Amino acid sequence: MSTIFSQIVEGEIPARIVYEDETTVAFLDANPLAPGHTLVIPRDEYERLNDVPDDIAADLYDTVHRMVPAVEESVDADATTVAFNNGEAAGQEVLHVHCHIVPRFEGDGGGPIHAIAGDRPDLDDDDLDDIAADIESRA
Ligand code: 5GP
Repeated sequence: MSTIFSQIVEGEIPARIVYEDETTVAFLDANPLAPGHTLVIPRDEYERLNDVPDDIAADLYDTVHRMVPAVEESVDADATTVAFNNGEAAGQEVLHVHCHIVPRFEGDGGGPIHAIAGDRPDLDDDDLDDIAADIESRA
C-alpha cells in the first residue's frame, strides 16, 4: 500500500504541486500551519531520513534550498521554520519522508523549534562528553 504522498507523485490524488524534478516534488500542505506551508519529498518512498540514499538526500536538500526563498517571497514571510518529523515518536504521521517549510511572521504566536521538546534532560559535563563521543564515533 503506497503512502498518500506516493499517490500525489503518481497523480492519483490531486495536490498543488509547486516544483518537481527527477527525484523530488514540492507541494502545498493540505492543512497548512501558515499560508504557503510547503512539503518537499523524494519521489520514491522512504519512511525516514535515515532510509534516504546519499544522492537522493542531496537532491532533497537542493530542493529545500530552492523552495525556502520561493515560499518566503511568495507569502512575504519574515522567516521560515524548516523541519522534518523524523519518525512516529517525533510526530510523523505520513511515513514518506517530507520536509515542512512553514512560513513565519513577526507576532504569529508560534514558537521556536525548542518548543517541541518535553521535559529538559538533566545532563552534566561527563554525560555530554559521553554522548558527543558516541555520536562522533557513528558519524
Ligand atoms: P507529518 O505529521 O507526517 O510530519 O505531516 C504530514 C503533513 O501532511 C501534515 O501537515 C498534513 O497536513 C499533510 N497532509 C496529509 N495528507 C495530505 C494530503 O493528502 N495532501 C497534502 N497536500 N498534504 C497532506
